[in-house]
Amino acid sequence: ADIAMYMAKKESGSSYSFFTQHMEMLSISKLEMENHLRQSLDRKELEIVYQPQVDCMKGAITGVEALLRWNHTTKGYISPSDFIPVAEEIGLIDAIGEWVLRGACRQMNAWHRQTDEPLMISVNISVKQLHDERFVDKVITILEETGLEARYLEMEITENVAMQDKQMGVLNRLRQLGISISVDDFGTHYSSLSYLKRFPVTKIKLDQSFVRGVQTDDKDRAMIKAIISVANAFQLQMIAEGVETEEQADFLVANGCHHIQGYYFYKPMKPAQLQAILNKELHDKLAFLGAKSVHNYDI
Ligand code: C2E
Ligand code: MG
Ligand code: MG
Ligand code: MG
Repeated sequence: ADIAMYMAKKESGSSYSFFTQHMEMLSISKLEMENHLRQSLDRKELEIVYQPQVDCMKGAITGVEALLRWNHTTKGYISPSDFIPVAEEIGLIDAIGEWVLRGACRQMNAWHRQTDEPLMISVNISVKQLHDERFVDKVITILEETGLEARYLEMEITENVAMQDKQMGVLNRLRQLGISISVDDFGTHYSSLSYLKRFPVTKIKLDQSFVRGVQTDDKDRAMIKAIISVANAFQLQMIAEGVETEEQADFLVANGCHHIQGYYFYKPMKPAQLQAILNKELHDKLAFLGAKSVHNYDI
């Protein structure tokens, strides 16, 4: 019954569910996917890739986002947009989320030991993880274990109706530890503005759907300007995601959003590749909006 409800919920969403579509393409049933997902950690099929975030004013990489990848033994690569919702549904998100957080913090701490300018690490956290009473303790343990200082950790959280006062309390405790909180996909959900009042948030992450319309859609441009004003009014940091072209980057910077993440600069990449970039201090050579996306690595 649970599965039926889950599928119904998926299908009732806007248009034809991407999940369903993708699953049909892979010819994998939800049940099969669940079973495989349960084994993915043990089988070491999960992997973290890292996408740089660029400060166009500094002309430098200032942070990286950790993004999860699942290399399924027979089905190949499965997108996190497809399997994270399943992990949430079957109660696996806590274990997977903890694995990502530990791996990302450990990796970033290793990078910190090799470079002078410490980068921030952004990790996506499902609201479901905030429902776990032990979440804050787990985070503290992971920071101790990996040696990463809390001020270099940012958690990206998508606006969600499941966010109750109790979860706000969890976020407040994370903030008190010195962890930053970013609202992911900002502007795409119903409650964006009221969130900022209640949410101990440090950064707004402009959703890529608005960025996509920069060259073609007046409304998207208006939306971006409005969201930038909101960020300024609330004295929040801001970053745009999904920036693929020079025109998009130009528009954002001209309007006051100079933190940029997207294929225009870098795609998500394996640690060794990012390490090479950091080692060579290529980021120093990123001229003001002059960098071309030559470091791409398809994942
Ligand atoms: P997100 O956190 O909003 O991440 C941004 C997504 O946009 C990533 O997709 C990234 O690869 C993609 N992206 C970045 N730059 C560009 C660009 O210039 N153009 C385009 N077209 N796409 C770009 P990805 O890696 O497939 O992840 C999808 C979503 O899955 C993430 O969206 C996030 O919500 C979720 N996710 C990924 N890793 C994790 C994780 O470890 N935990 C949780 N809870 N969710 C995760
Ligand atoms: Mg994110
Ligand atoms: Mg996003
Ligand atoms: Mg997202």
